[in-house]
Amino acid sequence: MLKAVKVRLYPNSGQRQIIASQIGAVRYVYNRTLALRMNAYKRFGKKVGKFDLIKHITKLKSRDKTSWLKEADSQALQQSVANMDKAYQHFFKGGGYPKFKSRHHPRQSYQYPQRVKIEGNKVFLPKVGWVRCKGLRKEFVGKIKTVTVSYEAYQYHASILVDIEGQEVVIDHNSKAVGIDVGVSLVVADSNGKKVRPLDLVRELSKLRTRAQQLSRKKRNSNNRAKAKAKIARQNLHIANMRKDFLHKLSRQYSENQTVVVEDLKIKNMTKATKGTVERPAKNVSAKRGLNRSIPQQSWGMFFEFLEYKLKERGGGLVKVDPRYTSQTCNKCGHVSKDNRKMQAKFVCTACGHTANADVNAAKNILARGIHGNNAYHQTSQDDVA
Ligand SMILES: [Zn+2]
Repeated sequence: MLKAVKVRLYPNSGQRQIIASQIGAVRYVYNRTLALRMNAYKRFGKKVGKFDLIKHITKLKSRDKTSWLKEADSQALQQSVANMDKAYQHFFKGGGYPKFKSRHHPRQSYQYPQRVKIEGNKVFLPKVGWVRCKGLRKEFVGKIKTVTVSYEAYQYHASILVDIEGQEVVIDHNSKAVGIDVGVSLVVADSNGKKVRPLDLVRELSKLRTRAQQLSRKKRNSNNRAKAKAKIARQNLHIANMRKDFLHKLSRQYSENQTVVVEDLKIKNMTKATKGTVERPAKNVSAKRGLNRSIPQQSWGMFFEFLEYKLKERGGGLVKVDPRYTSQTCNKCGHVSKDNRKMQAKFVCTACGHTANADVNAAKNILARGIHGNNAYHQTSQDDVA
């Protein structure tokens, strides 16, 4: 998963000059190679590929007139050709024709494909050096893919694209870990016994229904109909934002753990589909089907995504496990049976008599599965929490 982090840069006057000349060099190479490619095609019907254009940079550097390009970061120059090539490919797929870069454009930028380092509140940019910055998190986690340095409205910024996917999730048996069961009767239940109530959207959803009724009374193609439609769109957005906020808050809370174990939704949906009971996404957000409408099923993917990057930012990780039978398995003795779930909310083991909240029991199984068969783990981890 790629994540972009934008920080404000505070280069000193010498660094500002170097950045300005980098921007100039990159723009020059972009325009020069674009012109070369266009002319070769126009005059000779010849296609000049990306690698030949990159070779052309070396040629330019060796010429007296353009030897000043030697001072620029060579990878940033190559990246410039790569970006131009991308714009060109985009054009072939039906996009707009690539434009020359103007020195008068309000936003000037260039890109480093790699070699950027981060330490404390400083960013190391090749050729420029260590630049003071603002907006970096304490612990910067992830592999840096590209860094775009930009200058606009007298401000310098760096957009850092990081890959947070490649990291291994290390399960530390002595640290905080929790299993989460999402969304049937409760929003979530976790292996510590915590249950989270659904988000209350009753008012918002009833307002949406009122708006829909208002819309149905408006004449076709009328101004009022357009207005009513806009109101519905706004209300839908409002509801979507409320859900998102809620999931952000929830994921922030759980990201305080080192490891969070959840169900793999892909497997869950697959098994549901084969049983023919896959839940359909709510078409027009009706609250009729009870409170679990407050977070639609398809939002859990978003929740896990939020959770994953928040955990990784803090050096933790998300583990996804096969969800099959987590709700029918007794967490105490391991007995698996449909009969353990005769009641929706309560788990009663037919083998050992263990009783528990059904969702909490499932969350404990999820946690145990995530840490590879160590069934006693959730108990020791709870001791550690205290
Ligand atoms: Zn049991």
